[in-house]
Amino acid sequence: MTQTNLRIDGKRLWDTLMGYAEIGATAKGGVRRLTLTDVDKRGRDKFRTECRALGLTVRVDAIGNMFARRPGRDPSRAPVLFGSHLDSQPSGGKFDGALGVLAGLEVMRSLNDLDVVTEAPLELINWTDEEGSRFGHSLMGSGVWAGVFGLEKAYGLTDTEGVSVATALDGIGYRGPEPASPFKADAYFELHIEQGPILEREARQIGIVTGAQSQVWYDAVTIGQDSHAGTTPPSTRKDALVCAARIIDLVDRMMRARGEDGRGTVGQLLVSPNSRNVVPGEVRFSIEFRHPSDAEVDVLDAEFPPAAQAIADACGIKLELTTLFKIPAQPFDPSCVDLVRQGAARLGYSTREIVSGAGHDAVYVARHVPTAMIFTPCKDGLSHNEAESIEPEEAEAGCQVLFEAVVARANRSL
Ligand SMILES: [Zn+2]
Repeated sequence: MTQTNLRIDGKRLWDTLMGYAEIGATAKGGVRRLTLTDVDKRGRDKFRTECRALGLTVRVDAIGNMFARRPGRDPSRAPVLFGSHLDSQPSGGKFDGALGVLAGLEVMRSLNDLDVVTEAPLELINWTDEEGSRFGHSLMGSGVWAGVFGLEKAYGLTDTEGVSVATALDGIGYRGPEPASPFKADAYFELHIEQGPILEREARQIGIVTGAQSQVWYDAVTIGQDSHAGTTPPSTRKDALVCAARIIDLVDRMMRARGEDGRGTVGQLLVSPNSRNVVPGEVRFSIEFRHPSDAEVDVLDAEFPPAAQAIADACGIKLELTTLFKIPAQPFDPSCVDLVRQGAARLGYSTREIVSGAGHDAVYVARHVPTAMIFTPCKDGLSHNEAESIEPEEAEAGCQVLFEAVVARANRSL
């Protein structure tokens, strides 16, 4: 059986997206639905009610991840999973995360309407705290589930008011009885907006995501000497900011040497004493490199520290460089990626293979379950912004490809 004749309802999907966008709606057309707040609870409650109305069974695990299950014809088969996250940034958009969950809801609704029973069971997931903006740890729910970090550690994280994750979970009634740990699953699919400009620029409807980038992150401190801006001549200056600036330029040059696949960013700079008439004595800054290839990140990680040290030596400045973490690229499962490719091809959508530049729940899930992602374009590549925008037909195309991939996987012969 091919699925090409089965269609999801694009208008219903759009209405659902707009309905959830009212929960935590901001004046500028965005969404503020911080994880484990009363606003998040309203979204979760609505989601649970709507899942139950479809006959799905909803489970909640110890970190608040929600799993809505639709039975398959063969109860012995491992479920096919799909979903994303309903929490948002403090001034976030309507689609980051919500698209993946609500397209999943539309897949479930369409299957009910079309009277389709898949061979394997299906589970739609809402992961807790993908954004990390309240408790400072992104991908928290999927990270705990995947065993990347411990449940107790997550419970102990606090927000700026001192409220812990455990207290917040109890406060909204979403500390569930299920263990937050991997169970046997056949596949995981996540639809997400690209959060970058590539699909829009190349006028492609669907991004076939082949994996996530390799990354290395550092903390750096340049230490010189505070001194009077008016009385310190060049020969005796120890300007920590000039040294930092030359290292920042190095980061940019090392990125650009790798063409369009390279990423190198200094996004945070703390200048001390930060006074206009004092030569800066100390600068703390962040550095990160990303690339689809582990080998390139290995080269960056080998070459950057000594090159930065050489700059500091030439400036007569002390450099302290600490590696925060280094994570390898996460390639997605070829057979799952192929189902996305085939689904998009059957439907006649224009496509492009793409590596995810951002972190996603799928990256952690992929450590345990064969995984693939689907990207849709977003206007001007903008995300984590109230102006985040996509077109109804883009949402529909992404949802239709999700539907095809999920149903094909769930009905595959074993
Ligand atoms: Zn997201």
